[in-house]
Amino acid sequence: MVEKLQNEYDCIIAGGGIAGLVTALELLEQTQQKICIVDRDTKARLGGLARWAFGGMALCATKEQRRSKIDDSPALMLRDWQQFAQFEPSDIWPKAWADEYTQHNHKKVYCWLKSLGLSFLPAVNWVERGLYSAGNSVPRYHVLWGTGWELIERIIAKLAPYAAQGRLHYLHQHKVIAPHVTQGVISAVTVLDEKNQRQFELATHCFVAACGGINGSLDNVKKHWYKPWGAPPTQLLNGANPISDGKLHQQISQLGGVITHSDKMWNYAAGIEHPQAEFAGHGLSLIPSKSALWLDHQGQRIGPQPLVTGFDTRFLCEQVAALEQPWTWQVMNWKIAKKELAVSGSQHNPSIRDKNLLGLVKESLFGNERLIKQLARESADFLVADSLELLAQKMNETTIESHIDSTFLAQQIEQYDSQLNRGKGLSNDDQARRISHARQWKVDRMRTCKAQPIVDAKAGPLIAIKLRLISRKSLGGVQTNLQSQVLNNHGQPIIGLYCVGEAAGFGGGGASGLRSLEGTFLAGCILTARNAAQAIIATNKTKTKTIK
Ligand SMILES: Cc1cc2nc3c(=O)[nH]c(=O)nc-3n(C[C@H](O)[C@H](O)[C@H](O)COP(=O)(O)OP(=O)(O)OC[C@H]3O[C@@H](n4cnc5c(N)ncnc54)[C@H](O)[C@@H]3O)c2cc1C
Repeated sequence: MVEKLQNEYDCIIAGGGIAGLVTALELLEQTQQKICIVDRDTKARLGGLARWAFGGMALCATKEQRRSKIDDSPALMLRDWQQFAQFEPSDIWPKAWADEYTQHNHKKVYCWLKSLGLSFLPAVNWVERGLYSAGNSVPRYHVLWGTGWELIERIIAKLAPYAAQGRLHYLHQHKVIAPHVTQGVISAVTVLDEKNQRQFELATHCFVAACGGINGSLDNVKKHWYKPWGAPPTQLLNGANPISDGKLHQQISQLGGVITHSDKMWNYAAGIEHPQAEFAGHGLSLIPSKSALWLDHQGQRIGPQPLVTGFDTRFLCEQVAALEQPWTWQVMNWKIAKKELAVSGSQHNPSIRDKNLLGLVKESLFGNERLIKQLARESADFLVADSLELLAQKMNETTIESHIDSTFLAQQIEQYDSQLNRGKGLSNDDQARRISHARQWKVDRMRTCKAQPIVDAKAGPLIAIKLRLISRKSLGGVQTNLQSQVLNNHGQPIIGLYCVGEAAGFGGGGASGLRSLEGTFLAGCILTARNAAQAIIATNKTKTKTIK
């Protein structure tokens, strides 16, 4: 028999990530409601993945874009989004959310964040330009000054007075087992205190699932692996949070909710083992260098289309997943790494996270020596050597069998280097062409080397990084309408049941389709959360009027 607690909440939110916190903030600021946030993680980690996020956001028609003379608009963003997403005709709600995002990101996300006192770096980045299908036709990736860390801290601080007044109650290290429906309406939620293994029921007429995606479980990633790509790689790293295990999605499905597009994921091709792993298989996602040579397990350049980051993340994952072995190599030199290599997230970008302007300027001008030294010191996947022979030897030592022949490796590198060494206007190499295109945009010019060969006595030592696919975001999830209400398989909302953030596939159960323009995740969480809160507020107003 499950214990029934007396406390009744106007709204119970499962998940204290960005989506859950924003829903709560909006409700608390605009109503007198009493809210409970149930979160599986510890109090110190409140904020979910956003706390570790870099804070990049796809936004359009902003002041930062205008200052850089970037002519963008919701219509252009929508066109790019649709081209990249490759929606199916049946994707009614994902398309509606793509429309909602592109139309309203400026007001509901950008202006809202600014109203919280947050700001963006002046440099707007150009990511996901598209390889074969067009992606972002203009730069629109805005980086939050302070990263996701600052975003979360700011929102928690805004919530603090409500917690002090007793209108907001946090249940940390608690798990929502299942919401319950009575006569077609949400009536209660079963919660497990995971520390003390005590289960109880809380009454409510409004439940918001903000429990994150399903990619925190590698079993889920493998189970839902995109079928046309064949079997999933035998080795994958985990770049999400195992606490978000997808179990609540299943409960919502049992209530009649529709879960869609689980095979659409936003994984990354360049993961390394996290040197300070918090769980088995924990990985770090690198933003790989454009000037590095990307090789298979035998040291052969992957192709014929060389792998270059910044154009189509999904293409990179597809190519890597199709290889014989589950790991690849990026070979470069110290100069390239210092200028181009980065790690995604707040943890490895302290200058931006801690708002250290001088540090950021130094890194932009002289390269990120600190990061490269740190990786060389801490990561077993990051190998440094003074010669190609020694590098090949070190590469072979990381695998059970020796796959790398140093002479063959030297030939592969020499073929590429010789193209760059031909001199201005004479190289004929797709990677060199993409690098030269990337450098046309001033922000990329600052952090992309100009035709830099790998073997160069002035640029050493040499570096090889062992990379694996790393899971990150679920693009699919619970199907919702524009009010973030969960829909049943007749397309009708389940009264009192909402889903926001990554759990809802950032809106509609898959707002990104096959591909994200990148940076649509944090913003998508904020948008779906704010829409849910407005719908809950509107429903309560209607109820109050009816009672009167
Ligand atoms: C390193 C890193 C860098 C990133 N960088 C960016 C970026 O630059 N730009 C961008 O747009 N996105 C980025 N992302 C992705 C983005 O951070 C996430 O998509 C987003 O934060 C998801 O927020 P959420 O609130 O939906 O879910 P989550 O952050 O996953 O939060 C879900 C919460 O629900 C809790 N929970 C799960 N199940 C239950 C349950 N049954 N009961 C109660 N609680 C439960 C969990 O404890 C968790 O706290 C990054 C992610 C990572 C990991």
